[in-house]
Amino acid sequence: MARHFDLICIGGGSGGIAAARRAANYGARCAVVEQGRLGGTCVNVGCVPKKIMWNAAHTAEVIERAADYGFRLQVSGHDWAGLVERREAYIERLNAIYRRNLERSGVELYESHARFIDPHTLELAGERVTAERFIIAVGGHPTTPALPGAELGIDSDGFFALQRRPERVAVVGAGYIAVELSGVLRQLGSRVSLFFRKDYPLRHFDPMIRTAYVEAAQADGIELVSGFVPASLERVADGLCLHAADGRSAGGFEQVIWAVGRDPNTNGLGLEAADVELATDGIVPVDQWQATNQSHIFAIGDVTRVFPLTPVAIAAGRRLADRLWGGQAGRYLPYEMIPSVVFTHPPFGAVGLTEEQARQRYGGDVKIYTTRFVPLELALSEDKRHSAMKLICTGEQERIVGAHLFGSGVDEMLQGFAVAIRMGATKRDFDDTVAIHPTSAEELVTLT
Ligand code: FAD
Ligand code: NDP
Repeated sequence: MARHFDLICIGGGSGGIAAARRAANYGARCAVVEQGRLGGTCVNVGCVPKKIMWNAAHTAEVIERAADYGFRLQVSGHDWAGLVERREAYIERLNAIYRRNLERSGVELYESHARFIDPHTLELAGERVTAERFIIAVGGHPTTPALPGAELGIDSDGFFALQRRPERVAVVGAGYIAVELSGVLRQLGSRVSLFFRKDYPLRHFDPMIRTAYVEAAQADGIELVSGFVPASLERVADGLCLHAADGRSAGGFEQVIWAVGRDPNTNGLGLEAADVELATDGIVPVDQWQATNQSHIFAIGDVTRVFPLTPVAIAAGRRLADRLWGGQAGRYLPYEMIPSVVFTHPPFGAVGLTEEQARQRYGGDVKIYTTRFVPLELALSEDKRHSAMKLICTGEQERIVGAHLFGSGVDEMLQGFAVAIRMGATKRDFDDTVAIHPTSAEELVTLT
């Protein structure tokens, strides 16, 4: 007879694990089904390995600037393979920690592909399991464009599998992954060209931040190629050659990395057998309660494509469990004021509305405060790249509805400001906060 649970989470990534453990803490009988490595995208081929590579790239920057502070360093190269080996060993430790955490929470783990065969039953490798409720937390995978020769390129998963640093790389895309991987490769010594379809990468970010990024990337020697709509990829004598729809070509690449978005992992999940409706692009649409069209089947995380970020998947899963098993009626994740950081060099981050969104929502009732400055850490350096900050306020009280930060340290700075802004902080609250000097963060409480 099939084992029966109160909750089965399909997918042992950020969202699925968080939801199952929270529900189990409330006494629900829970299982997680994972077909790959525990921890999902974030732990294995996402945030964690990316941040380790970013740390390595940041270390390269620090070494380069060390001479400004009087150090005479001789660096004899960089051991990419050694870095990758240590990174993967760390990830294996995380996989084991995730497994232990599930055990400690009393969550059953099934290591298998899951497929619905009816609205309450999953078929796993060799057995069937049933549940009162399901959470679809299957995440996504990198999109490979449907172009001739696309298979000659790699994606972000392929980037993490590289055993040596490619000398000359083309990155195609315009989002988080494209700019982050470009930055890491460039700082570690590769020649990098970033190809994007429109005028700018990062079109959805505030223009001030976007401009600051473009200046910094160019100063670092990343070639930015705009208006390049990829049409095909081919291997020729001197390497890989990218062709654009308008007839332009660019060649001589050792690797081409596609960073053109991610597709949801809903193929083969049997959602039709569970009568769960899918959007045309394969995402699972949900309401504010994370519910699908089936009242006992929920979806969280990247498979819903709403703010595809790890902490969002975790928060959505935990709040759903709080509501369903923790007696917290009305608890859900409002998808607003979600902070995020893009790990470029330097990093940038944003919370709340862009200037354009604020003007659409509040019309003329928007006040903008901005600053651009060279951070003190670059005072002795030839490199005078600017940090940039913008606060977007509305109403008589000048409530802050958006903050956009670019520069060294903003990755760690944004979280605290995001708390204040989510709580409804006004410009006056910022002004009344005594600055911490000398820091870049103080600029945010001294804006005029
Ligand atoms: P996932 O973590 O992808 O987990 C889904 C799991 O479901 C997978 O393990 C998969 O194997 C499993 N699965 C799929 N189908 C089935 C099935 N049928 N049966 C059983 N198991 C199945 N986010 C940030 O917040 N910060 C970052 O810095 C950041 N960096 C990133 C860098 C990269 C290169 C990438 C690709 C992503 C990054 N993200 C980052 C995004 C983040 O990784 C995702 O938002 C997050 O992992 C989504 O969690 P999830 O639970 O929805 O899905
Ligand atoms: P994104 O959706 O962020 O960006 C992909 C971009 O690629 C699109 O916006 C589009 O930009 C461009 N694009 C799409 N199709 C094509 C095509 N056929 N040819 C050329 N360009 C194309 O996807 P990513 O893969 O970068 O990242 C996925 C998600 O993962 C992110 O949205 C983010 O939520 C998360 N993530 C978070 C990180 C973080 O928090 N630091 C880091 C990495 C990922 P345009 O329309 O302008 O051409």
